[in-house]
Parts: sequence; C-alpha cells; structure tokens
Amino acid sequence: MNPEKKVTKANQIFDCVSCGKKADYQETTYTVPYFGQLLISSLSCPHCQWKATQIFSLNEKKEPVKFSVKIETIEDMETKVIRSGNGTIKIPELGIEITPTTNTEGYYNNIEGLLELVQELIIESTDKNAQKTVQQISQARNGKLNFTVILEDSTGNSALIGKKVKKL
Ligand SMILES: [Zn+2]
Repeated sequence: MNPEKKVTKANQIFDCVSCGKKADYQETTYTVPYFGQLLISSLSCPHCQWKATQIFSLNEKKEPVKFSVKIETIEDMETKVIRSGNGTIKIPELGIEITPTTNTEGYYNNIEGLLELVQELIIESTDKNAQKTVQQISQARNGKLNFTVILEDSTGNSALIGKKVKKL
C-alpha cells in the first residue's frame, strides 16, 4: 500500500450521470510532498463504465498559480502533474493545449502519463496535424524531443512538482 494514500469515504451511492443506475463514489486523500493534501473524488459506474474524477487541493492558501518545466531527459518525465478541472496545460513545442471544459477530468500522474493520455486522445483523429503530433509525442516520450510543460490554474488546485519546476 502507498503510505501517502488514504481512502476517506468509500462506496457512497450516487446515480450515474450517464445511465441513471447506481454508481460508486470514492474519495481518496493523498499527502503529496511539496504540495500538501490532495483530495481526489471519483465516480464510476459498474453498469455503463462511465467515470468522472475531480481533484481538489485541501491546502488553506489557494492562489492563482502558474508553473513551467523544461523536459530534457527521461528522468524529467517523472515530474508530477496535479491538474484540477480548472487547470490549463500547454506544451507549445507539440502544439498541445488542454483547457478546462464543463466535464474536464481531474488528473494526478506524471509527464510520461500525461503524454500517453494525450496520445490516446488524438491517435484516432484522421487529421494530418494530429498524426504529426502523435509522432512528435512518441519522440518526446523516447527523450528525443525537448519540450516545455506549462500549467496554470486560477483556483490554485493544480501543480507541477519536480526538481526542475519553476513557479512563475
Ligand atoms: Zn452508468
């Protein structure tokens, strides 16, 4: 078990937004070094596989934040990404911009996982530019392409955490 992880409320019953049947609700609190307390709530429906994840900082001080990190080595890929539904992630070199939408999912992983997720999202697109981006992401994941990750959140619920992260 991860000692940083604590399930605070498990298996409360909510109705699934998608199919209306009973969905499972779970809240997990994480203690994240250099960040503080993080609450992740997730709804998942066993009937239709619908899922939603929300992320909140439990820190007392919540001010608008902006972080930037230059990814130049495979090791830099371990930089942690905490993104609430209000966070915007930009990777200018790859032309990637993830902006908040009404059903934006929260996200807690590292840069490698983030690239994998973006790749999965656009790989099915038939757009020529999308295919180019997929190739660039592959290069980036193999450490063959340097890039910058910028994360902004006006609600202060997001963060980049790692040795090379700059707070702007
Ligand atoms: Zn459902």
